[in-house]
Amino acid sequence: MILQREDARRPRPSLGRAGGVGAEGSKPAVQRRDDGKDAYGPRPEGRGATLIAMRVQGILLSLWVAGAAGAQTTRELAEINWMEFRELVPAKIQTVLLPTGTLEAHGVINNGADILAPTALARAMAPRVNALVAPAIPYGVTGSLDAYAGGFSISEAAYRAYVADVLTGLARNGFRNLIVVNGHGGPQTAILNEVAESVGRTHRVRTLVTNWWSYCSDITLKIFGEDGGHAGWNETAFIQAIDPRLVRQERYTDRLALARPAEGAWSAYPFPATIILYKPGQGYVRFDQAKAKAYFDAVVEKMTALVQEVIARWDEAAVLR
Ligand SMILES: [Zn+2]
Repeated sequence: MILQREDARRPRPSLGRAGGVGAEGSKPAVQRRDDGKDAYGPRPEGRGATLIAMRVQGILLSLWVAGAAGAQTTRELAEINWMEFRELVPAKIQTVLLPTGTLEAHGVINNGADILAPTALARAMAPRVNALVAPAIPYGVTGSLDAYAGGFSISEAAYRAYVADVLTGLARNGFRNLIVVNGHGGPQTAILNEVAESVGRTHRVRTLVTNWWSYCSDITLKIFGEDGGHAGWNETAFIQAIDPRLVRQERYTDRLALARPAEGAWSAYPFPATIILYKPGQGYVRFDQAKAKAYFDAVVEKMTALVQEVIARWDEAAVLR
């Protein structure tokens, strides 16, 4: 996709600025106080950590943010130095969010939608689950759309090995809760599930692989009144909420969309449309900024609650402490 402006990327929300990706969901992990000491969210108590404690923590972080405009802040793993990292992990932060995506055709949104969506989601969730955000793994295992212009697909063997090494590195660096915020389905989800479980077992860390569009399909039905699809109304809306400039409405026609076949009915390579509807007659893209915003916010809410709940249950059970 040729972008018609200099900066297609949305500014990161975490550098002491209000708004940005995920807007109000973004709060910093680290900020300098006037006395020179770092202010952090309280450390989860492990065995006794509860959802309530985590919510209190989020509120406290919000208060700190409100009180210190312009402070140096970030939750980006790639933007802190080794001394800051050493102070934070695992003493104050035990959770990392790893966005995973791919590059593939997506109707009238950007080929990197599956990278942008989980990255924005992770950034919005990070302060609320007291996590750092790891740099995304952008290339993935694409599937039947890999022939379309600009598509890439990594061989499964290479992808497995690479993802395993990234997760292992996160474990070795002291993170206890490794949360994969996956942005691409197809063959990738099953690979991530297997690799994450294997790394968890080998390195005695907890892993969770999430697929936001699937886990939040009820929100799709609620907001749009119908089911969605790959690059369908729901996914297009998610990108529209993050950066409306990436949505090329003028190029859209319903002809770009096709429902996926019933199991066993037919199979084509490449799939003969880049918008793949989950159900016939549903998910055609309509452009509604208010619905897009509501959808993004609701997905962030539900995904945040999932991560909080799973971590709380791990902590309560004191499993792999
Ligand atoms: Zn996608």
